[in-house]
Parts: sequence; C-alpha cells; structure tokens
Amino acid sequence: MKIEHVILDRDGVLNVEVAGGWVLRPERWVWEDGAQEALAVLAGCGVTLTVATNQSCVGRGMVDLAAIEAVHARMIAEAGVEFAGVFVCPHAPDEGCSCRKPEPGMLLQALGGTSPERAVFVGDSATDLEAARRAGVTPVLVRTGKGRGVDPEGAAVFDDLLAFAHVLSRTGTP
Ligand SMILES: [Zn+2]
Repeated sequence: MKIEHVILDRDGVLNVEVAGGWVLRPERWVWEDGAQEALAVLAGCGVTLTVATNQSCVGRGMVDLAAIEAVHARMIAEAGVEFAGVFVCPHAPDEGCSCRKPEPGMLLQALGGTSPERAVFVGDSATDLEAARRAGVTPVLVRTGKGRGVDPEGAAVFDDLLAFAHVLSRTGTP
C-alpha cells in the first residue's frame, strides 16, 4: 500500500545520539550523515513527515521541556522540510504514561488523520519497532544509532534514512 505518512524517530535516525545521554542543548545537535538529504527526498515524495521521540531527560529532571523545544527549533530550522508535527514523550520510564515508546500512544497521536496502514515509523531500536507494530504502523529499521545491533524481526531494514528515502521515492513503499 502506498505510504502517505512517514513518522521518524529522532535520536539515531535524524541526529547522532549522544553516547549515554541526551541532546540537552541545541549546540549538541549533530545531524546523521545524509539525514537532511533524506528529508528532502521524502518531502519530494509528497508524504507527511512527523517526528516522535522519547525524551525522558525531562521526566528525570535533567532539563525542562523548553530546553527540548529549543533543540527542536534548531532541528526544524535546519531540516529544510516542513514537519506536520514534532511529538515528544517527556515522561520518565516509571511514570507509566501511554506515550513513551514502546507504548503506541505517541505514534497514534502523530498519525493525525492518516490510517496506520498508510504510515511507516522509522526507528533505530527494538522499542521503536514494537511501538510501530502496536500502533498498526509498518516498522522500518535503520542501521544508524542503536540500529546496528537490533534484530529487525521481519521489519524492512536500511543502512540509513537516506537509503530508505530513495526506496520510498522509487517504489512508494518500504
Ligand atoms: Zn510519555
């Protein structure tokens, strides 16, 4: 089925993960190689683009949500494309929220009006794949960030976001 909406994990997909930590300030943001080009390719496909990211650094009391929004202001400014939404789970793991991946809540919110079978979620972790499946969205694994060591369990796998974007632009599906 032709994909109309690409939901993107952030850390390890769009930006380089900070080892053992979080991107707490805009200056710490480093794009993954090819990610901005990938966004341009995806935008050229005419798909809706959203971001869905766990940021438990807020719930853990390391920063406030405004700091994460400042990081995202840089991301949005440099992305070169329009995101229909940037969704953040700010909760700590022990808060029991319904948005922290692998819970499906944030992806269901990100979908907006898109039916799940016309959407993919691109992530780099087993929890991303699980969240996608629980939301009814097609999971896609990229081998950046944590993705190098993850068992795809049948999900489509790409070396990075750009490789995925090129396939989507050629075929309309992953
Ligand atoms: Zn949450």
